Amino acid sequence: MTAKLIDGNALSATLRGQLAERSAALKARGVEPCLAVILVGEDPASAVYVRNKVAGCEKAGIRSIKDVYPSDVEPAVVLARIAELNADAGVHGILVQLPLPKQFDEDAILEAIAPEKDVDGFHAENVGALAQGNPRFIPCTPYGVMKMLEAEGIDLKGKEAVIVGRSNIVGKPMSLLLLEKSCTVTICHSRTADLKFHTQRADIVVAAVGRPKMITGDMIKPGAIVIDVGINRLPAEQGGKLCGDVDFDSAKETASLITPVPGGVGPMTITMLLTNTLESAERAAA
Ligand code: NDP
Repeated sequence: MTAKLIDGNALSATLRGQLAERSAALKARGVEPCLAVILVGEDPASAVYVRNKVAGCEKAGIRSIKDVYPSDVEPAVVLARIAELNADAGVHGILVQLPLPKQFDEDAILEAIAPEKDVDGFHAENVGALAQGNPRFIPCTPYGVMKMLEAEGIDLKGKEAVIVGRSNIVGKPMSLLLLEKSCTVTICHSRTADLKFHTQRADIVVAAVGRPKMITGDMIKPGAIVIDVGINRLPAEQGGKLCGDVDFDSAKETASLITPVPGGVGPMTITMLLTNTLESAERAAA
């Protein structure tokens, strides 16, 4: 079997077109959706992510504010700026790009963002709402995965879903979303005794680990759906290209549907950030 690709670029383009229409409708009612992005330090990957988020806003008709601070900034300065943005009725989403330099308590920064503007969905109040099955903002990457499954018309009820990775930003929220859709969910992590045992019986495998090509074709049940969240840069001697946590070449021979890297989950993440910002603006305008 050669798996069908789930094209995150194509789905993103469709969804972003719909977002631009919703933005225009809001503007016609006198509300300009706005996302504020805070970047601290000079981490090159973070700078690229922020640049892509700002560019995504512009194309979707969402105003963006970008605040950049040096890596040695006092956390109090950033907290004061967050308080200002919280109080600004013209701002609908606030995002602090992670990771932050070591003088920061990341949790304290995330908790300082007003929950109704927390478009990343990382505030404890929003994590709790998601766990209760009543989400306000769904974290962008797992939200994007759910949109991909929805677009493929997958009936999730009763499916065995195995998620590899238990981070707060991907693995845990992913498990809650699949559970909410009545999958039987297993979460694996670095202490899982026999990873292959679990992945081999999965109808849906979501890989969110950060280890290049670790999920190989022999670990996948024939006909399974394989979602590769990983973004890894191969060393220069191996070509220096981006690759996922899944060994695409072997997995595509066994799976029925698979996301490529790049061009799979990656573009969906920013699309869902824009979606959350627009939803926030629509709520504020209601
Ligand atoms: P984290 O490093 O926070 O979490 C990685 C998880 O993988 C941990 O739960 C860890 O287990 C688990 N793990 C590590 N080694 C193994 C192993 N050998 N077997 C099983 N599990 C293992 O990563 P993130 O969740 O933030 O990101 C995961 C990947 O997804 C990265 O490549 C990242 O770049 C990418 N990513 C992509 C996004 C996108 O837009 N497509 C967005 C966010 C992330 P333990 O908890 O025990 O340590």
